Amino acid sequence: MKAVIFDLNRFAIHEGPGIRVTVFFKGCPLGCWWCHNPESRSQKPQIVMREQKLNGRTFRVQELVGREISANHLMQEILKEKAFMDESGGGVTFSGGEPLLQTEFLIEMMKHCREQGIHTALDTTGYASKDIMRKVMSWPDLFLYDLKHLDDDIHKKYTGVSNKLILDNLKLIHDSGKDVVIRFPVIPGINDDKAHVEALKFFFKKELPQIRRLDLLPYHNIARHKYEAFSIPDKMRSVDEQKKEDLEKLKAAFKEGGLDVSIGG
Ligand code: SF4
Repeated sequence: MKAVIFDLNRFAIHEGPGIRVTVFFKGCPLGCWWCHNPESRSQKPQIVMREQKLNGRTFRVQELVGREISANHLMQEILKEKAFMDESGGGVTFSGGEPLLQTEFLIEMMKHCREQGIHTALDTTGYASKDIMRKVMSWPDLFLYDLKHLDDDIHKKYTGVSNKLILDNLKLIHDSGKDVVIRFPVIPGINDDKAHVEALKFFFKKELPQIRRLDLLPYHNIARHKYEAFSIPDKMRSVDEQKKEDLEKLKAAFKEGGLDVSIGG
């Protein structure tokens, strides 16, 4: 069995507990305006042009983004880091893009990890059918669940899809007793206003009383240079990164709601 991935990060420390291997699956059903990984959007490997500097000169070179990998090969790569994972209480995080687009491969990998006693986290948009979510949800030890906006019209405008499935699946996972960390990308002027923050706090209290942890993921414009390479319009050109003090205020506001909150995961 094979999947298409676009990266493998061997010493990740912000995507779940301990030191982790993070596998980035290629392909995403959303199209968020602020996406840091535009290379994840298409599920197919892509050839793009990239600038490279050598001896003071700039060259344009071709780069292949994304590769097919078999479950056995990927497991071999993961097992190379098992000592670090065991020592640090880490594991493997499946991220993307959206790993749920390659469901069978994902389940196969989580089965292999379980056989090897490796902790697994699934970093997901939650945008998948209920059938797929039911099929997958017993496998990861931890969900890192992205939540971008509670208002469906705003969600559609900035991500291209409705939030209905995302919210329904989140409730399904939460009510099943799974361990869930909510990941909230804080996007200036789009989802960080007081009314939305208060709505989120109310939503967590009423609908997700077991949720204990929230990661605030600040918007960065570090991926701006990639947009042109992938022929994706950069709609965030005029948006600046958050000030540290504004993020601290947000953190304090969510903490008031009784959550353990961290900035950056
Ligand atoms: S869900 Fe994540 S990977 Fe997909 S478009 Fe949005 S930010 Fe990018």
